[in-house]
Amino acid sequence: MTLKLFNTLSGKLEEFVPLNPPEVKIYTCGVTVYDESHVGHGRSLIVFDVFRRFLEHLGYQVRFVRNFTDVDDKIITRAKEECKDFMEIADRYIARYYEDTQFIGIRPANVEPRVTDHIPEIIELIQKLIEKGFAYATPEGNVYFSVEKFKDYGKLSKRSVDELIAGARVEPGEDKKNPLDFALWKRSKAGEPAWDSPWGKGRPGWHTECVCFVFKHLGETIDIHGGGLDLIFPHHENEIAQAEALTEKPFARYWMHNGLVIVNGQKMSKSLGNFVTLKEIYTKYHPDVLRILVLSVHYRSPLDFFWEKMENAKKVYERIRQAVEDYEKLKELKTYEENLGGVHPLYEFVKETEEGFFKALSEDFKTQEALASYMNLISEMNKLRNKAFKDKKISSQALEAYGYAINSVKNTLRNIFGLLEDVLPRCPVKEVVKKELEPASAVVDKELINLLVEVRQMAREKKLFDIADKIRARLKEKGIILEDTPFGTKWKRV
Ligand SMILES: [Zn+2]
Repeated sequence: MTLKLFNTLSGKLEEFVPLNPPEVKIYTCGVTVYDESHVGHGRSLIVFDVFRRFLEHLGYQVRFVRNFTDVDDKIITRAKEECKDFMEIADRYIARYYEDTQFIGIRPANVEPRVTDHIPEIIELIQKLIEKGFAYATPEGNVYFSVEKFKDYGKLSKRSVDELIAGARVEPGEDKKNPLDFALWKRSKAGEPAWDSPWGKGRPGWHTECVCFVFKHLGETIDIHGGGLDLIFPHHENEIAQAEALTEKPFARYWMHNGLVIVNGQKMSKSLGNFVTLKEIYTKYHPDVLRILVLSVHYRSPLDFFWEKMENAKKVYERIRQAVEDYEKLKELKTYEENLGGVHPLYEFVKETEEGFFKALSEDFKTQEALASYMNLISEMNKLRNKAFKDKKISSQALEAYGYAINSVKNTLRNIFGLLEDVLPRCPVKEVVKKELEPASAVVDKELINLLVEVRQMAREKKLFDIADKIRARLKEKGIILEDTPFGTKWKRV
């Protein structure tokens, strides 16, 4: 299956080809930890969580890094307001972040680096930029990136340097040479967090940390860099400038940006008081309802959040849940044999649903169409269920087909969309933040499994059932379950 993605860098839909398949390296910009996570964070987290699950389903081995910005002006301001140390504020909101993300079922990244754990590496990176002539230190103890030295500046956001200069000016008190130059290192004011550096006591600017994390935890060129649309300029533009100035190689092959969330038609802002926090959502609704709302809109489109939309998403969630639960009730009904003259038509419907689901996701990750294909299947299943409840009996063929459809619903919507999962237990914060996490399970190569399934089929045809059973048993030990269906053998991971 070919996966096509819209690449912000080229402005086009492109075939996704990783640099070193089956490995896929992804980096997304994480949160600045000074306040509660809101629905805008939730959307970006859900989009990339599902995208990662989809890539893994396709057989890729995904290495995923997402950072925490734990030193920043906003954190320092908050700390001053509360008369607390900035680290206490950062730790508090990292803890809240983990609570929220566990409730909404976001898997942790393989590495979740914090700025304050990487100060020596960030200083080293800035020094290299100065040595190569792309950055300069000022007598005041600040370091800036010199935008005019990087000829490709503006290539991601499609802006020209001339146009940008026309709209920019050096603010009074700023010591940079060009208004577009951005800070790599900031001198700390009295009472602010500060680290020793060759330029005096200071702290890193925001744009350098992500480059440092990518280089350290993923390498010089990654496959996908993701984030919200609002990060394209200047943050991602500045990341490209620093990384490519140093390596002279592409920083990320694909840039994937999710659309923003607005609330009741307006931008979320403190002054409007229309922030919707994740906690507010999941204390009112099952976490799957938010997932359904997010996935029912294409990731690149804006998402206008209304509470009524949550009510609609809740109805979708209840329909899915009901279809799953009704299977148990159907099994209690009286059964009879039906003469169909072939397999039950629901099998064909399931096959079409699965094809529609994967086709939609492989064309720029159209989760809304993928979800719609399963909702059509559920409508079809409901017809069968309604008839059975009315007749107070069900044919054994229909029951079997319903069970087959339920397996498809459960497997696909759980494994790829992350729906129908139980809420994970909360985990202690510090360990998770500082520890490098290995992939949840070693990804067994998809091609190899298909080959074994084929060999098993050949063995069965030759009536070598001991060999066939052995293959099934050994795969089961590795967490791969085989299911023989009228359309051949299917497999899934448990
Ligand atoms: Zn970033």
